[in-house]
Amino acid sequence: MADLGIPQNTIAVLQKYNFVFQKKFGQNFLIDPHVLEKIVDAARITDDDCVLEIGPGIGTMTQYLAERAREVVAVEIDRALIPILRDTLSAYDNVTILNEDIMKVDVGQIVRERNQGRPIKVVANLPYYITTPIVMSLLENHVPLHSITIMVQKEVADRMQVGPGTKDYGALSLAVQYYARPEIVAHVPSNCFMPRPGVDSAVVRLTIYQEPPVRAQDEKYLFALIRASFNQRRKTLANGLSNGMGIPREQVTAALQEMGLPATTRGETLTLKQFAALSNLLKRGNAIS
Ligand code: SAM
Repeated sequence: MADLGIPQNTIAVLQKYNFVFQKKFGQNFLIDPHVLEKIVDAARITDDDCVLEIGPGIGTMTQYLAERAREVVAVEIDRALIPILRDTLSAYDNVTILNEDIMKVDVGQIVRERNQGRPIKVVANLPYYITTPIVMSLLENHVPLHSITIMVQKEVADRMQVGPGTKDYGALSLAVQYYARPEIVAHVPSNCFMPRPGVDSAVVRLTIYQEPPVRAQDEKYLFALIRASFNQRRKTLANGLSNGMGIPREQVTAALQEMGLPATTRGETLTLKQFAALSNLLKRGNAIS
């Protein structure tokens, strides 16, 4: 089967099927064999792995994954791509193509049916219009995952990886770092895609923690607190949390004091560990008051 990482082969497939790119689906296909190798290497795929690929496009990365994995399940929303995928992947008997919206797929069921409930690996060149919802739903639903290796917009990769005190630090950084260890493994310029996106990209590997690195008594409450803190980024936590969550200012100030932090503390300066401590203190306070 022709290597679709080579631009001429991708062009031939697109012409054969008169394929029209759908902007609304974030379709930018990879046309660089080195980048494809790098992604699959970073995902550390072995012949024992079941891999979920989100958005296979015309099957370019799927070919690379199918060469190394025991099994690949590829979920593609665009109906027009399904006959193309059946053609480009016809040489592989270890690929299942599902014509679905990944946001509506029960990934837990795929894990149970295809991998006896053991953690799978997710690999994707993600559609950028929906990156955060896809990543957050995979993480928050506690699906058994080993890792998520994804191509995303460079700024999004930066936001996933940074710590407090930087402008990119926010709710996404904390949510990702609660569930996984993020590492940027490659920077990818726009000329590696067809058509070229208007932004640079990066490959990030999220290695899922089996146990969260911090203890939060109530995970939902912790994330509500984090969101409220960053919704009003310029405000102190005492003001932000009283406006956003109706927690009395004095209660926030008292909790901060117990943590040895000043009343003027802003959310953007707190580490994940400090957010967890604050949420545990405030939750306890709520239960008492
Ligand atoms: N994997 C291919 C590659 O690397 O060349 C294509 C990547 S392209 C950036 C994103 C792909 O995700 C497209 O094929 C698009 O149709 C598909 N897609 C977009 N939204 C989706 C969704 N909600 N569920 C599943 N696939 C989706």
